[in-house]
Amino acid sequence: MRVVGLHPDVLVATSRMWQTTCTIVRSGTESFVIDSPVFPDELEILPAVLEHAGFALSGLLATHADWDHLLGRLAFPTAALGVAETTAARLTAEPGTAARQLRAFDDEHYVDRSAPLSLGQLQSLPVPGHCEIGESELELHPADGHTADGMAIWIPWARVLICGDYVSPVEVPMISSGGSRDGYLATLRRLEPLVEAAAYVVPGHGEVLDGARAAAILREDVNYLAKLPDAELPIARRGEPQHAIHAANVQRVRAGT
Ligand SMILES: [Zn+2]
Repeated sequence: MRVVGLHPDVLVATSRMWQTTCTIVRSGTESFVIDSPVFPDELEILPAVLEHAGFALSGLLATHADWDHLLGRLAFPTAALGVAETTAARLTAEPGTAARQLRAFDDEHYVDRSAPLSLGQLQSLPVPGHCEIGESELELHPADGHTADGMAIWIPWARVLICGDYVSPVEVPMISSGGSRDGYLATLRRLEPLVEAAAYVVPGHGEVLDGARAAAILREDVNYLAKLPDAELPIARRGEPQHAIHAANVQRVRAGT
């Protein structure tokens, strides 16, 4: 797992699986871990990453309810998990889904895990809104369309945007179950001014982007979504898995979502 510092208060760890990102943000004596890496060894090392940086954990946040972003409690079993109201609603409506999908992933890839996933205490956060951290506040922005739920997190003093599964350099826009093209496009339009103001954008999957590169990917994604079902894949995202995501998008758009 790779860990990079974007600012004295912001670290990003990137998983070997799907380049899933996990951001650690601090203000004063508080810090939050946002989203999670996937493999057990990566999760095990997270407490040491915080300790080494001198950050004391106050809680976990997740950008949305997809299981690969929810594994923070495996590293910090007693921490509370804060999510957008939309994500809390989804997790309450589908209890056990994340744990079941994690088990299926582990079975498929022969991954041993010492404990099953339990999400524990959920804190439902109003979005749009703010989340206090130390002497500062994180801004929470609605980010649905990939799924039915989600939030993007803006760290004002570091000018870092953690956007969940949007603006990825490795994955084309994925309209999952519960998501929609219109919702996805609306989220990209909402994120655009933040991307333009950002020093760094941390996508849910893929390397950290500077503001200019993120803005270019955002434009590509708007263009791709607007042209569905006849869109072509962006040049840098044309591998086999991207074609599979694209085929599913085409089907959903033709079915009217
Ligand atoms: Zn994801």
